[in-house]
Amino acid sequence: GIQDLIVGDDDGGKLFTPEEYEEYKRKVLPARLKNRLYVSWRSPTGMDCKLVGPETPCFCTHRYKQHKTDYEELPKERPISVPCRVKRCPCQSYQFVPLNGTQPIRCRCKHFPDQHSAAPGFACNSCSKCSGFHSSFTCACGQPAYAHETVVETKEERLAQGKPVGQDVPYAAMGGLTGFSSLAEGYMRLDDSGIGAPPAELLDAPITSMDHPFLKAFQGPSSSSSATGQVSHGKQSEADDMAYFEKRYQERASYCIYCFISIHFHKRMSETDIYMI
Ligand SMILES: [Zn+2]
Ligand SMILES: [Zn+2]
Ligand SMILES: [Zn+2]
Ligand SMILES: [Zn+2]
Ligand SMILES: [Zn+2]
Repeated sequence: GIQDLIVGDDDGGKLFTPEEYEEYKRKVLPARLKNRLYVSWRSPTGMDCKLVGPETPCFCTHRYKQHKTDYEELPKERPISVPCRVKRCPCQSYQFVPLNGTQPIRCRCKHFPDQHSAAPGFACNSCSKCSGFHSSFTCACGQPAYAHETVVETKEERLAQGKPVGQDVPYAAMGGLTGFSSLAEGYMRLDDSGIGAPPAELLDAPITSMDHPFLKAFQGPSSSSSATGQVSHGKQSEADDMAYFEKRYQERASYCIYCFISIHFHKRMSETDIYMI
């Protein structure tokens, strides 16, 4: 439920007691709401081809929520590092790596990402000819994977570029997720609303038809190349995110119904209510 979304991986798998949970919220939420980091995988065209969510795997194989995503104070240096918190993992900052359909992409050395070291340099553990992971896999945006960059930025930095930031949410490791169309590739075509509520048509649509707008977005600018199967965009990798998304969607849907009732019948819904639901 909501507690899982708020605590993320911070309870190390064992549930907090109600007292620990209250203490956690008191300690973590103010900074989280203020210092959220947005993580996306950006094309040289400027488009965010992937918005990283809590369950999105890193090059190091661990999920985004297993990285350091909460900052009491925002780091001053750029780029901002989001190191992995898993013991002995050498990953120094979250790196998104796309899938080719359901398959991991290959390095030009022919080995898979997990055959490479997650330490800076991303050297291959399986051969000596590799100078670091480098994939020419073509993303749906038409650009090669290696030309993309995992971008970590603050709310102000995103706003300055006119990118959506969504609403402030208390959930852990939300990364780049800013709305309910965020999990789709090319989300900007669906969500040009910037800050704001999820589009009404998404909220009105039955959950079973949620695939539809995503698949439409997935067609992208180059539908001819998708038809060849050459350009594919991690449908499987989305499966986990989609499960997460659906859970959140349902929570948000009931939250929205609550808002609607409050706004229309009581007219005193406050920001804090949002966090308390
Ligand atoms: Zn790791
Ligand atoms: Zn990592
Ligand atoms: Zn390699
Ligand atoms: Zn290799
Ligand atoms: Zn792309």
